[in-house]
Amino acid sequence: MSATKEFLTPEEQQEIVNAITLAEKNTSGEIRVHIEDHTEKPPLERAQEVFHLLGMDKTSARNGVLFYVGVHDHTFAIIGDEGIDKVVEADFWDCTKDVVIGHFKSGAFKEGLVAGILRAGERLKKYFPYADDDKDELPNEISRS
Ligand code: CA
Ligand code: CA
Repeated sequence: MSATKEFLTPEEQQEIVNAITLAEKNTSGEIRVHIEDHTEKPPLERAQEVFHLLGMDKTSARNGVLFYVGVHDHTFAIIGDEGIDKVVEADFWDCTKDVVIGHFKSGAFKEGLVAGILRAGERLKKYFPYADDDKDELPNEISRS
């Protein structure tokens, strides 16, 4: 089994998908989690690349958020699209990242991701409230490479 498979149990993966679904009930924002083993690139640069590869820059309100985890590399990054960066406070992603990494340090990977996702959802709700005609523009399933 690869490290990315062992990183989260199937039950934990489902809890993360559930957290995304729950967060997206409050906001039109689209949250995704991408997990991979290793990259040669700096995590933030790789996260930007994955963001584009997953078509996350195509949401109508430019309000996608990506949580990127490099399992073997012990790296983590969060990035939001330009619609979000225009409105949230500059340190929002850093604060969210600190919350996630606080859990990661004790090996609580699922808890960290769930806490980060819910925090992002709460914040997005203020600027991008859920609308009745909302579309699920990006799948809530965890992405891997
Ligand atoms: Ca949506
Ligand atoms: Ca979604």
